[in-house]
Amino acid sequence: MIKIRVRFAPSPTGKLHIGGARTALFNYLFAKSQKGVFLLRIEDTDKERINKIYEEDIIDSLNWLGLFPDEEIVRQSERLDLYEKVIKHLIEKDYAYYCFCSKEELEIRRQEQLTRGEAPRYPGTCRNLTKKEVNERLDKGEKYVIRLKVPEKIITFKDFLRGEIRFDYRLLGDFVIAKNEKEPLYLLATPVDDHYQGITHIIRGEDHLPNTPKQILIYKYMEWDLPVFVHLPLILGSDRSKLSKRHGAKSISELKEEGYLPEAILNFLALLGWHPEGDREIISLEEMIKEFRLEKLNKNPAIFNISKLIFFNRYYLRQKDNQELISLLDFSKYGEWKNDNFYALNGNIYSKEKILKIIELGKERANLINEVLKTVEFFFIDFDYPKELLLWKSLSFEEIKKNLIQISNELKKISENDFNSFKIKEILDNLSGKNKGPYFWPLRVALSGKEASPPPFDLAEVFGKDFTLKLINKAIQKL
Ligand code: GLU
Repeated sequence: MIKIRVRFAPSPTGKLHIGGARTALFNYLFAKSQKGVFLLRIEDTDKERINKIYEEDIIDSLNWLGLFPDEEIVRQSERLDLYEKVIKHLIEKDYAYYCFCSKEELEIRRQEQLTRGEAPRYPGTCRNLTKKEVNERLDKGEKYVIRLKVPEKIITFKDFLRGEIRFDYRLLGDFVIAKNEKEPLYLLATPVDDHYQGITHIIRGEDHLPNTPKQILIYKYMEWDLPVFVHLPLILGSDRSKLSKRHGAKSISELKEEGYLPEAILNFLALLGWHPEGDREIISLEEMIKEFRLEKLNKNPAIFNISKLIFFNRYYLRQKDNQELISLLDFSKYGEWKNDNFYALNGNIYSKEKILKIIELGKERANLINEVLKTVEFFFIDFDYPKELLLWKSLSFEEIKKNLIQISNELKKISENDFNSFKIKEILDNLSGKNKGPYFWPLRVALSGKEASPPPFDLAEVFGKDFTLKLINKAIQKL
């Protein structure tokens, strides 16, 4: 059995986006599921459009997602000799030729074709220049490009998902494959690399489908075996229009910045055009590898739905170990760590154990990593609130004040060691009887400054006895 070799071949002309990351993931899954090899090739031949910053972004994002290539990264800019050999060979065999037509001249021909109601294509002006003529013009230093000869016929080729595809080469005209021997264009460099890197399956976005018959010609002329072509379905926005920022589509590094987890993004991407067995939606990378089959890919467009991504993130955030989250969360806004204790801006000091508890409480209300601490920031900062917030239904300020004083007196009686949520809840239950609101509500507000928070007895435990009493006292002073 031949060894499967696939590649993700981005052009570093922008950051790694959802579509590119999905292509990378599907290549990776196919390789891993077949015990094959997954490669990363940077297609950086277009000097005007590429940027090292984007190359770094792409590599960093893939690493962050955990999609590591199995061999060293290949850059097309470092393989120009290889393309030169192929370009020369194609010219020698008369499959490619020098074209000296100027831009202006090409434009005139194009207009003529359009007026005649024809599809514009290169009219073949330089196709049959003699060797002598070509050499003379080259010697004179005339500007040129290199074009591939396209036959006047219809071909069919196979796409793994779409089956047989007919393509009429007559619509195409001889197209440019290189600016010169040392400057190949994408259409040439890609099949050359795919051949020399032994790529068995080309898995890429459907937007590349029109390039495939062009690249197949190069395989034919070079007498190379064709790889299997798999064109992945488009990803569209929820309104079925082209995916854009408007639909919440962002680069992977932006999503990372906003607090999404790699697990959630991978799970989300996997379902853009593929589905595991059954109705299951939550699936880990390992399970994806086990279950991934090209045959199960969908050929209809996949719809991008940001709320789905949020759903996955919420799920994976809850699954995440709190200890691990400590290193992912940005505590710097809220104080500083010293010897495994956290000194919060409000003067309270939390042990590591308490911080783990805070994370647990914060996680419950967060969708994104960055929201975890935000939802429980009252543990760290001096907060304020209008005194009206302390009021429960029709109770008066006086009654609320009396209740808070009662709570405070009871809590004072608990020893530091017994100051836990269970005990505190018991006290609140005893004080309030069946009607919880008059006690639980003002305590919640005193400890969080908010209408919605984790239960007040949990907050009190984390704050600790002294700080809890201090906050209750602050509320009493307000009233
Ligand atoms: N470099 C091309 C791109 O970024 C992809 C080439 C391919 O996958 O064949 O769109």
